[in-house]
Amino acid sequence: MANQTVQPIFILPEGSQRTVGREAQRNNIMAAKAVAETVRTTLGPKGMDKMIVDSLGDVTVTNDGVTILEEMNIEHPSAKMIVEVAKTQEDEIGDGTTTAVVLAGELLKNAEELLDKDVHPAVIARGYRMAESKAQEILNQLGERATNETVLKQIAQTAMTGKGAEYSKDTLATLAVKAVQMVVEENNHVDKDNIKIEKRTGGSVEDSELIKGIVIDKERLSPGMPRVVKDAKIALIDREIEIKKPEIDANIQIKTPDQMQGFLDQEEKMLQDMVEKITSTGANVVLCQKGVDDVAIHFLAKKGVYAVRRVSESDMKKMAKATGAKIVNNLKDLSKDDLGNAGTVEEKKVGDEEFTYIMDCKNPKAVTLLIRGGTEHVTNEIERAVTDAVGDVAAALKTGLVVAGAGAPEMELAMALTRYANSLSGREQLAVEAFANAMEVIPRTLIENAGLDPIDTMTDLKAAHTKKQKWAGIDVFSGKVMDAWKKGVIEPLKIKTQAVSSAAEVAVMVLRIDDVIQSSGSKGGGEGGTPPGGMGGMPPGMGM
Ligand code: ADP
Ligand code: MG
Repeated sequence: MANQTVQPIFILPEGSQRTVGREAQRNNIMAAKAVAETVRTTLGPKGMDKMIVDSLGDVTVTNDGVTILEEMNIEHPSAKMIVEVAKTQEDEIGDGTTTAVVLAGELLKNAEELLDKDVHPAVIARGYRMAESKAQEILNQLGERATNETVLKQIAQTAMTGKGAEYSKDTLATLAVKAVQMVVEENNHVDKDNIKIEKRTGGSVEDSELIKGIVIDKERLSPGMPRVVKDAKIALIDREIEIKKPEIDANIQIKTPDQMQGFLDQEEKMLQDMVEKITSTGANVVLCQKGVDDVAIHFLAKKGVYAVRRVSESDMKKMAKATGAKIVNNLKDLSKDDLGNAGTVEEKKVGDEEFTYIMDCKNPKAVTLLIRGGTEHVTNEIERAVTDAVGDVAAALKTGLVVAGAGAPEMELAMALTRYANSLSGREQLAVEAFANAMEVIPRTLIENAGLDPIDTMTDLKAAHTKKQKWAGIDVFSGKVMDAWKKGVIEPLKIKTQAVSSAAEVAVMVLRIDDVIQSSGSKGGGEGGTPPGGMGGMPPGMGM
């Protein structure tokens, strides 16, 4: 048996990297924490902004969690999983992306401490899942049923606090609430696509307005058409108003100039007939998704019709929602009943561009929020803030349940989950406790970002919650504990339930990985100073 050499066995192609066990876990957790740490400083009204410069030198200044992470182009595979948390939150609500990511980071940080104490990752994962489902229960009991006008406006304002929209948040909150209220459908469902957010540089934020209809960046087809049409009857047509070229190659032999003229006359007649057909329904505005022939334009203008061509499909759909028109493909079928209505259709110049405003619609189910601002950076950041506000108001209407913010629900969760942990036995108890403690990161970060000392304030906050003051939160301006509900810091419950569930989901997913195999071709690693240790994306079946 002596001196026998052991042949190494290669199961992976040359150049592949593999990390296993604790090292793999440690790398993944470190990368995930690095991501959370990056956005942490932006949380809350006193959070700072980030300036991100892309490879082309374009600059984005933002406070929005998901925007920061998207612009950063993160490559480390498990760091990317954290970015996914932000994206889920963004898709589901729009707001709360930073909260979700910070929670995920803290859950992993606390898990790491348990790993150091030799608690098995599977035990931590199980404890986290138990805590997560308990957290949902607690949050649902915590939520208040209140979605009156005042509350909705407070929700919109809370969403915009600390963003570029700060100084005009009153105006913008009113607009956001009105927009949502207009497009709300059955069962309080709101399709955010029906609120078109348009930006215009120039003017001040206060000039922002809600258009009861749709604004499209197209001008009318000819100066011979009226610039303004009152009491508009609108036809939405999604075929060309042109003579289609034959699909097959056809030869038409023209021998005399007369024949040529006859041919052209024929074409003109066909176009004139098409216009006749449209105007015979009473339409005085035509919005066409495809092309419109110059000859047709001429006839439309002669009839005093306002026409626009090559309108995008999504704008056509919104227009149908706003005006009640039906999009028609076959001109033969077009009838009076297909037309939509708008009080005014008008071409307006904003800056040096012409736009078509389809406005003053009665009971529009799609509207436009026109955001104004001095510079492009301002309008971009305001757009993000208003989008968050719209998402929050919609989420509040949908479920009807809201909570106060400012760290109050997270503190309430932390304490209720600690009580739950105490009712358990076994090693999961440790994990549930770790989960409970992780919730405190939100109020603590709000305090830290305000430049205040967390120790005293956190103690006061806990004391208030012990005294059953469930909406006790952080007043980021004074550093004291306040009643967040009375101060009007209100958010939809859905932000919290979603943030907790996606944060827990990703934490469990990261914890369950104990083997990272990176093929030689794949990129990854390096993010946050961690050694390479990627797994080339998420393996299938790695879910919870
Ligand atoms: P997110 O991307 O998670 O929405 P934000 O930067 O918008 O991150 O911060 C949201 C947090 O700020 C929430 O916990 C919210 O309750 C809190 N918050 C918002 N407005 C106030 C306020 N006026 N006072 C204290 N906390 C606030
Ligand atoms: Mg927010």
